[in-house]
Amino acid sequence: MEKTAVVLLSGGQDSTTCLYWAKKNFDKVYAIGFNYGQKHVLENEIATAIAKEAGVPYVIHKIDTIANLHHNSLTDHSMDVCKEKPANELPNTFVAGRNLIFLTYAAVYAYTIGAHHLVTGVSEADYSGYPDCRNTFIKAANAAVALALDYDIEIHTPLMWRDKAQVWQLSDELGVLDLVRTKTLTCYNGIPADGCGECPACRLRKAGLEKYLSTKK
Ligand code: ZN
Repeated sequence: MEKTAVVLLSGGQDSTTCLYWAKKNFDKVYAIGFNYGQKHVLENEIATAIAKEAGVPYVIHKIDTIANLHHNSLTDHSMDVCKEKPANELPNTFVAGRNLIFLTYAAVYAYTIGAHHLVTGVSEADYSGYPDCRNTFIKAANAAVALALDYDIEIHTPLMWRDKAQVWQLSDELGVLDLVRTKTLTCYNGIPADGCGECPACRLRKAGLEKYLSTKK
């Protein structure tokens, strides 16, 4: 039977690596993205270009009303991204409920096109403490969407236990390291490729790349 997957694609390093992982592991791949009121809507354009280059159909859903519910530095223009992770609390880049909402939309999309697999780039290894990136959450969300739809569906998280260096390694194995390096947007300040170099996302991405490249020599 033909295996079809829906990839949650934001245009960043992780989801782009997942897109190519899915292309290798499934017969048919679709991608879904979201406009959730993020300041940097450029990521939607970047994801669209990445999906086009990968030859994968891509849909973006506008769900920006969640920005009215919870204030965070990714959607609120009056807030700056915190440079350091505060001790004992979540960074202000945490968008409450985001991954649960994304996975629900992606599951409904999969249901309508007859796909039984979802792929998301969440990771527990190098994460910033976001509760909705944890493996336990993904397992619970998987059970919830399967029950809600009465539909056989599996959420794949190929990056769950990989640190950033290992994510770079995977993109290299998939033959897309340069593409990921030059065409994705991970930076919290909305600057593509190597980004601003200063925000937590850029520093994590850069440190991971340096670590991976140093082990390659
Ligand atoms: Zn940055």
